[in-house]
Amino acid sequence: MLLGAHVSIAGGMDKAIERGTFLSCTAIQLFTKNSNQWHSKPLTDDEVVRFKTLRNESSIKLIIAHDSYLINLASGNSELREKSANALIGEMDRCRILEIPYIVIHPGAHLEIGEDEGIKNIINSLDIICVKTDGWGVDIALETTAGQGTNIGYRFEHLNRIIAGVKYTDRIKTCIDTCHIFAAGYDISTAEGYEKVINEFNKLVGLDRLVCIHLNDSKKGLDSRVDRHEHIGKGCIGKEGFRFIMNDKRFYNVARIIETPKGKEMMEDKLNLTCLRKMIVI
Ligand code: MN
Ligand code: MN
Ligand code: ZN
Repeated sequence: MLLGAHVSIAGGMDKAIERGTFLSCTAIQLFTKNSNQWHSKPLTDDEVVRFKTLRNESSIKLIIAHDSYLINLASGNSELREKSANALIGEMDRCRILEIPYIVIHPGAHLEIGEDEGIKNIINSLDIICVKTDGWGVDIALETTAGQGTNIGYRFEHLNRIIAGVKYTDRIKTCIDTCHIFAAGYDISTAEGYEKVINEFNKLVGLDRLVCIHLNDSKKGLDSRVDRHEHIGKGCIGKEGFRFIMNDKRFYNVARIIETPKGKEMMEDKLNLTCLRKMIVI
């Protein structure tokens, strides 16, 4: 099973592997650069070698990148949209160098132009990005969102429309965030609700495209449209919902990654991962 956490890259890319190993992860997620800045220093050869060597010696089987927060492929401002596309290509180049096969991205926020225009912009941006990154071995995973503000991706239909609209469909994968879908109104807290939601996702998006599930409980209620992550079992989803996911055989090859609140020493991550591992009965 691919289970792990989003880990910090503070101190260098290789430190993320050390942190993942400390948490006994079989999969990790990381940023490839500072997530709040456009600019990044190029990776050094040393850093890349250390990263790959440590990874090969570790129990980590899959590494997933997450894009930085400034990127917005839906923006109606063509300058910002282009800057975003170039920034994502830059991050995908880092993934190529580090041999990271997927980068999770937030589809984008339409701001003032409306969802239809926003989705159109995302599709056009993805087409440009896929051409420029052809053959790099890095695919893009669209993450479901809570629908806070003007964020696109809070309905499975949004992902459906984006995937149906792009030219290079094979390059587009997906990521379900449990906190986000719950906040967006998809109730996975009961057995009946869970099956219904996963079936709907399968019908509209396809489980064959799913490469990652972000396991986060939600501080806010069903359909609150507010994105606030909570420790596993301590929020409005509750333990049951996570028990379904941890025992769902369909997700054997899907990276299950926590993005729950963190302290300095990673004790919270340890506790959340232990809680999840204890749920496994299959
Ligand atoms: Mn995300
Ligand atoms: Mn997430
Ligand atoms: Zn979130």
